[in-house]
Amino acid sequence: MCVFYRNNNEELSVDGMSLGAIAKQYGSPLYVYSAAGITDAFTRFQNAVAPVNGKVYFAMKANSALGVLALIGKLGGGMDIVSAGELARAIAAGIKPSDVVFSGVGKTNDEIRQALACNIGQINAESQAEVAAISAIAKEMDLLAPVALRVNVDVSPSTHAKISTGERNTKFGISTNQREACDIYQQMAKDPHISPAGLAVHIGSQIRDLAPFERAYSALLALAIELRNAGWPVPNLDLGGGVGIDYDTAGPTDFKEYGLLVQRLFAGQGFNLGFEPGRAIIANNGALITQVIYVKQGGDKRFIIVDAAMNDLLRPTLYEAHHAIWPLDKPGISTSKADIVGPVCETGDYLGLDRDMPNLSAGDGLAILSAGAYGAAMASNYNSRSPAAEVMVVDGAAHLLRAARPIADYINDEMIPNYTDIPE
Ligand SMILES: *Cc1c(COP(=O)(O)O)cnc(C)c1O
Repeated sequence: MCVFYRNNNEELSVDGMSLGAIAKQYGSPLYVYSAAGITDAFTRFQNAVAPVNGKVYFAMKANSALGVLALIGKLGGGMDIVSAGELARAIAAGIKPSDVVFSGVGKTNDEIRQALACNIGQINAESQAEVAAISAIAKEMDLLAPVALRVNVDVSPSTHAKISTGERNTKFGISTNQREACDIYQQMAKDPHISPAGLAVHIGSQIRDLAPFERAYSALLALAIELRNAGWPVPNLDLGGGVGIDYDTAGPTDFKEYGLLVQRLFAGQGFNLGFEPGRAIIANNGALITQVIYVKQGGDKRFIIVDAAMNDLLRPTLYEAHHAIWPLDKPGISTSKADIVGPVCETGDYLGLDRDMPNLSAGDGLAILSAGAYGAAMASNYNSRSPAAEVMVVDGAAHLLRAARPIADYINDEMIPNYTDIPE
């Protein structure tokens, strides 16, 4: 069952609190997360990979609120990061750097230096040039860098093109074709400044079918065994994230089948396994609450104009993503289809198109479901809008995770050059 449910008064609620009441207190638009839901999802994922001793590194790019990271840290999670900014967040949330894996195709020298300086658990390198850069920096710092190679096993995950990373022609990983990955791994294993940490793979996101995982993991395992048989240490296999969720029901994700697949492939093979789920832990445990500003009829269309916009939740326009949208109060009978749109000056600024919606009027509240992942983390200041604040409900009480930044703060960051020499 979805963590967002109707209470006895038909008010959409989470963990005993009505979302309308939370929005009244903290304002609208507002992200609301469920600590109980996150705990449940994370724990079930951990349990699904426990038989193979899997360690779970939450992919922070899905949601980087410190309050979310600290909760996952408390549950035993490490972090998968993609920038020095995310490293700073992991540390600020109390995560041990040794429990952090650094992914990403374009780590700068400065980012590599920062990661090594705090004794990061593992860097997943994605090119020969990156391995060389890490080696040079490790030499300069006089330490041994723990580096795994992210390989590209050329598996299409059959998901949206913008979140597909597994094919040969994407920018991700080192191709296992033409033996490139094998050669680079051997070179790396001989490097006196690198401690070879193993291999990593991540084929994409929102993958709802196990077949692409099976193909990718089988290819990774074959390469790992080949390298190990050749005498090279391959301690860790990082199996990435990508497990998909149900955006129609916004219900919890079952990890049992995924766990069984991993057991079938890796049990008894002698590798330490790492996992990097992001979306599957947090997406359905967060909703974006918004309020109707106006309703208008444009030609045959009903437009419901709300106070949340693409700067708060980019997924609908970026990925053509579908999010369920539910009225906060008792929903009447659907009267006609409507587009739910924001105030931003872009035709692409919508949260849902052609949705069956009851009669709504100014002030009515809506919840955009499944917004916990790639929602607040992707928010921007576009149109000089301050992104929605974030709240976590813990044991029936709401806690502010991040206040909306006052527009004055953005303005105060900026400077106007002295234009006195320019004729008016
Ligand atoms: C984005 C990403 C993840 C998380 O993907 P989800 O689909 O959110 O689980 C994990 N690992 C890497 C390397 C990523 O880039």
